Amino acid sequence: MESNQLLSVAQEFGSPLYVYDAEKILSQYQRLTNAFSKVEKLRINYAVKALSNISVLKLLKQVDSGLDTVSIQEVKLGLHAGFSPDKIIYTPNGVSIDEIEAVAALGVQINIDNLSILEQFGTKHPQIPVCIRINPHVMAGGNSNISVGHIDSKFGISIHQLPHILRIVENTKMHINGIHMHTGSDILDIEVFLYASEILFDTAKHFKTLDFIDFGSGFKVPYKKGDIETDVEELGRKLSKKFNAFEKEYGRSLTLTFEPGKFLVSEAGYFLAKVNVVKQTTSTVFAGIDSGFNHLIRPMLYGSEHYIENISHPKGKERFYSVVGYICETDTFATNRRISEIKEGDILSFRNAGAYCFSMASNYNSRYKPAEVLYKDGKAHLIRERETFDDLLKNQIMIEM
Ligand SMILES: *Cc1c(COP(=O)(O)O)cnc(C)c1O
Repeated sequence: MESNQLLSVAQEFGSPLYVYDAEKILSQYQRLTNAFSKVEKLRINYAVKALSNISVLKLLKQVDSGLDTVSIQEVKLGLHAGFSPDKIIYTPNGVSIDEIEAVAALGVQINIDNLSILEQFGTKHPQIPVCIRINPHVMAGGNSNISVGHIDSKFGISIHQLPHILRIVENTKMHINGIHMHTGSDILDIEVFLYASEILFDTAKHFKTLDFIDFGSGFKVPYKKGDIETDVEELGRKLSKKFNAFEKEYGRSLTLTFEPGKFLVSEAGYFLAKVNVVKQTTSTVFAGIDSGFNHLIRPMLYGSEHYIENISHPKGKERFYSVVGYICETDTFATNRRISEIKEGDILSFRNAGAYCFSMASNYNSRYKPAEVLYKDGKAHLIRERETFDDLLKNQIMIEM
């Protein structure tokens, strides 16, 4: 979106504000679909945890996306947005058998990621089809916080435990219809991903009744000009070929599944915040905005660098700023950033604010969560109201004393 469009949306709905560009979400969906056009059956399950607003879910439903969910609440949001249960997969980690049974009862595809639950679930419900999450033990990215396929990861059942998986399946006579991996965010190297896929194919051969193979996600998106991003077109060419060859060998029609979050929504999102104060110290110029890690925690949690623009004065002389929040903790969004000269009252726009931004927002410092807007067909639609004081009091009880 253009700066002037964003600015007028901020003027209409106030700040801080999340704005999502529907067209970008849809074009990313299309890009992935096109990359895998040689595969007969492709399914994209949007990872709800990245951005769970029901209007965003509905938008993706309109292009026939499925959903990848990690909690029963996300499942319910998906159903509320109009998804049929068979378009939803549930991939929890460390969740109780009770919740898994409750989700299965809704008709949603279950994906199990540990042997204990696999055995319990298979014993009680041998007729319900189950997908198994495998940990292929490959490092997808450089940052161990976001590489979930390696040896110390809590995610998935180790590929080395395949004999035990097979024993459980045989003993319980349970029905395995899918094999899954999710090696973590940020696939830098397609070869690593293709290597992991070979492990998945080898695993798949041991199951005779599969309907799908789920390659998870981890597509890397650019945060600034010149950033490395996953070449989905190249991945599409190479993986499609391998997949089609495997399908032939397997002798049964299979669906290739992905579950991208970031890839679909990251670049579509903008976070708009107003500069409350410009503070000159002996070493730095701080721009203090009407937000903090209560609204956008990724820079502090992951060290992610969101590109920041001054959309009120985009053409001014550039100066160096540290952009900080109003929370009573260190909440630095950026240090030593070149930004067009900032005046108090200016609106700053943070890029890549679609994924894991609003969905991680909190009420810390008793601040309200921001409003959300979906920009679609040239119009700004409010899709979440800004919170009010009543929201802070909701569920609190002041006892007699
Ligand atoms: C978080 C998650 C995803 C989405 O990851 P992105 O990096 O946002 O694409 C996909 N699958 C599972 C199981 C996840 O936990």
